[in-house]
Amino acid sequence: MGLIVQKFGGSSVATTEKLKLVAEHIKKELDLNNQVVVVVSAQGKTTDKLIAEEKEITKNASPREHDVLVATGEQITIAKLSMVLQEQGIKAVSLTGWQIPIITSSNYSNSRIRYVHNETIREYLTAGNVVVVAGFQGIDETGNITTFGRGGSDTTAVALAASLAADRCDIFTDVDGVYSADPRIVEDTRKMNTVSYDEMLELSSMGAKVLHNRCVEIGKKYGVPIYVKSTFEKNSIGTLVTNTSNLEDLVINGVTKDDYISRITIVGLENKIGRTYELFKLLSKHSINVDVIVQSFGEHITKDIAFTVKMNDLNKTLQVLEENKKELNIKDILHCENLSKVSIIGVGIANKPGVAADMFEALYENNINMHMVTTSEIKISVLVNSNEADMAVKAIHNKFFK
Ligand code: ADP
Ligand code: ASP
Ligand code: MG
Repeated sequence: MGLIVQKFGGSSVATTEKLKLVAEHIKKELDLNNQVVVVVSAQGKTTDKLIAEEKEITKNASPREHDVLVATGEQITIAKLSMVLQEQGIKAVSLTGWQIPIITSSNYSNSRIRYVHNETIREYLTAGNVVVVAGFQGIDETGNITTFGRGGSDTTAVALAASLAADRCDIFTDVDGVYSADPRIVEDTRKMNTVSYDEMLELSSMGAKVLHNRCVEIGKKYGVPIYVKSTFEKNSIGTLVTNTSNLEDLVINGVTKDDYISRITIVGLENKIGRTYELFKLLSKHSINVDVIVQSFGEHITKDIAFTVKMNDLNKTLQVLEENKKELNIKDILHCENLSKVSIIGVGIANKPGVAADMFEALYENNINMHMVTTSEIKISVLVNSNEADMAVKAIHNKFFK
């Protein structure tokens, strides 16, 4: 008898009809004599709706109450799916993150899993149940409900698979695997049969939301084979995320896009040792995640620094900077909203001259302006206006994969 963890995302559990389809996937594993733990997301756009309703009350909700609110979406799905299974004569029990419990750090909306107590799940499995678990949530050491960040149900699934030493973790979603770009943006993308944890981690971290990046980290650490497959396509083979990659010798593995990015420019920061440190120390003290950073040469008495933050951190960042403008000796603070980061990823980038030039040429040919550029051994990212981001992904993908 094997143990399989299956995860079904929001679009896979959106309606009662779809929950019945999910039950078929579960039944298939039970018929093979496997034990099944199922992790589910909130139905359809429920999480977005809850966040919109929160915004009707306040733009500044307490992080604790925000997590209490958004964690409710998954609770609805676990109850409904357990009922659907029970209606079909299948023994099933639902568990929230805190009933398991999954112990996490206390940073709301981005909490990290510290420990999974899997005893309760094991008892229910031994008693012949399908265990249906609410994704993306846990509880901190003082009993507060926490969530893992958008898309975090994947992380619940792989963490449970690791803790239970499951044979594999199947991530069922609305596409039939991992592609060289989002198949909803680019028509002729290439599906990968296998992808290594490292390659997948880069793709996810740079915006390929088909897998939450932290689930890939956990998968790698504990050697959990992760299959990404379609809920809706019969006999979907999907993509296996594992240690080895089966890719041809491609220059790049994929093109990704990350939306909701804003750029802040600090104009006239005193050009003195320690000033840049003070600036970023201040942001880190306020738990603001900074991504791309570009600093001017600093040949004068002042220098300019531009950096990006996620749009939902923009107001907080501007407020912190305004409050400390005098102390940091800053002349001006400018910002620009609605940007997207478009990236190419590939281990071959460092060794192949001309990759950056090809990427920039694709943008030039489509008249797309780059606001910032950042490169590393295995990726090149550019910031573009969000309304041109899909066009940028298509153009770059065409350049490398045609
Ligand atoms: P779920 O609700 O099942 O968790 P998500 O919406 O989080 O699903 O992730 C699936 C989506 O990821 C797909 O619909 C697709 O648009 C998007 N996606 C982005 N990049 C990729 C990629 N490289 N390969 C496959 N899907 C991708
Ligand atoms: N429901 C959460 C979200 O929409 C978590 C998830 O779906 O993975 O982000
Ligand atoms: Mg997802």
